[in-house]
Amino acid sequence: MKVKQKKILDLVVIGSGLSSLNFIDTYLEKKKKVHVISPDFKSILKFKKKFKAGPLPSQMKGKNILIENYFSSNQIKLEKNCNALGVLASGGLSNYWGLQLDNYFFNDQKELKGKTFKLIEKEFVEFLKKFKIIGNFYSNEKLIYKNNFEIPTFLNKLIKIKDNFFKFEKPILGYFSKKKYIYFDQINENNDRLVPEIFLKKIDKRKKIIFHNYYVDKIVKNKGIIQLVLKNKNNSKTIHCKKIIFAAGAIATTKILIDYLKIKDEIKIKHHPRLFGLFFSRKPINSKLKFTPSLMQVVNKSFKKRFSADIRPGNKFITESLIEGFPYLYPIKFLVNLFQNRLIFSNLLLDSSYSNLFLKRESNKFTLLSKANDASKKLKEQSKKIFKFLVSKKVIYPFYKTYYPGNGADYHYFGSIPFKKKGRLGVNNKCQLLANKNIYIVDGSVFDFKTNKYPLGLVIANARRIGKLLSK
Ligand SMILES: Cc1cc2nc3c(=O)[nH]c(=O)nc-3n(C[C@H](O)[C@H](O)[C@H](O)COP(=O)(O)OP(=O)(O)OC[C@H]3O[C@@H](n4cnc5c(N)ncnc54)[C@H](O)[C@@H]3O)c2cc1C
Repeated sequence: MKVKQKKILDLVVIGSGLSSLNFIDTYLEKKKKVHVISPDFKSILKFKKKFKAGPLPSQMKGKNILIENYFSSNQIKLEKNCNALGVLASGGLSNYWGLQLDNYFFNDQKELKGKTFKLIEKEFVEFLKKFKIIGNFYSNEKLIYKNNFEIPTFLNKLIKIKDNFFKFEKPILGYFSKKKYIYFDQINENNDRLVPEIFLKKIDKRKKIIFHNYYVDKIVKNKGIIQLVLKNKNNSKTIHCKKIIFAAGAIATTKILIDYLKIKDEIKIKHHPRLFGLFFSRKPINSKLKFTPSLMQVVNKSFKKRFSADIRPGNKFITESLIEGFPYLYPIKFLVNLFQNRLIFSNLLLDSSYSNLFLKRESNKFTLLSKANDASKKLKEQSKKIFKFLVSKKVIYPFYKTYYPGNGADYHYFGSIPFKKKGRLGVNNKCQLLANKNIYIVDGSVFDFKTNKYPLGLVIANARRIGKLLSK
């Protein structure tokens, strides 16, 4: 009888968020096809037990099941004091739209050499040009990509203010636009948003991407070949490959790799603690969009302990969530809606040194937890400074409200498998895992975003760099 030879794939990508798809876009410049393992969390599992997710962003209302299935299939228990969200929609966290990207890159990591970092920056500019992303990009304060968008004049004026402490700037927006110049509310938010679903259509015209609706349960090394144990609602199967590209987001990637490396220590997952703020604008900001993007970022000028806050005009999605979050506002719902165009929402983010999330392994059980301290005090201090500044510049009225959503409810998870020279849970400049050079990591796990607060640009650019490297 003939024994069936097992098929060994050359390369398999795990995850289908923007890090995966950007890796694939450059990888397929020279390669014929690629296999992607990524579950549709809508249909993977349905647990009867009610899962209490932390506050969801307003566009994701009612999608708790996705988060429940993400944590259940990745077999990660969330401790009570931890409000982390793993994933929000099948195909990646970034199905959230209204994304903003920093308009500059800062290399916070000594181990990430200057030359490599320059290459990452170059990839980012190519990405901006290829997909005609909206916004301007600066390198050492020099403008190197321009696709400007206009915002209301009274906000634009903030950019010109010379202040010793604060700096206002426009972010890059997670939207595509062929027009050279656009007023922010002319963005086509249905078709032109930078989210995996729409991005996939742009890059897979020749159907070269083969999806497998499974999640990776574990990986095992077997004589130089890597075995992937895959599961979904009804099935389980094992596939074999020579190289793996991890793009499953920091929490899932770290979990699978600490299991593979049998690491027992508690691993810190870095993040940006977040405070929501609500301000009242002196002037209306009218917009036709369902979900308005951030029009401005304010940062403190120091590179050390940099915080960043955005300025996002009110919109229907956010005001609905506001009323849901604070039910006592219900009787004045009509007033909230009436003044929607006077509301300014803000997300204040602290740098990663305030991180307080840990992934712990005990025998085969994984727990995501946070420790006693929370960052709310620091966040509120910084928020007050921004509030006072905006009042002094007559942008807002002198009352505001803040809300701390809890430890980990900040959506940016990263920094658990950093660039370094020694150890096992780290990567070299080519993003190869130090413990196994056939395992590459292209999601946020490899970066520590201290100065940069909106990580997606760096993540995308780095994934594109590695895609190009492996396509040779
Ligand atoms: C509400 C929200 C707002 C955000 N806003 C911004 C912003 O404005 N700017 C910014 O820069 N960043 C923002 N982020 C963060 C940004 O979305 C992430 O940086 C980005 O999604 C990272 O992309 P990724 O591809 O690395 O990971 P993800 O988008 O997390 O994709 C992970 C992929 O892996 C898959 N996966 C998970 N587990 C497994 C498994 N076991 N096996 C196989 N596949 C698996 C998932 O289904 C998904 O396809 C935001 C995030 C959220 C949630």
